[in-house]
Amino acid sequence: MQFGYHCEECEEAIFPLTTRTELQWLKNRRHVVEEVAKHVSGGLDTWIVEGLDFLDKHDGHSVVLTQRR
Ligand SMILES: [Zn+2]
Repeated sequence: MQFGYHCEECEEAIFPLTTRTELQWLKNRRHVVEEVAKHVSGGLDTWIVEGLDFLDKHDGHSVVLTQRR
C-alpha cells in the first residue's frame, strides 16, 4: 500500500516514498517545516521536498491523504 496526497479540486495526486504517518505530520506542520527548510542547505529528504512542493501548489485547495495498492 502506498500513501499520498490528493487534491480534490484538481484531481491530482502524488505518492512520495514514505509512510502515512509522515505525510500526516508534514501536512499538519507544513509551515514549520518550510521555515526549517529555508535554513537547511539541501539536506531534505526527497519525500519532504515533493510533499512541500505539492502542498504549495495546491495551497488553499482541499488536499486529503489518499492511498493506492
Ligand atoms: Zn489543487
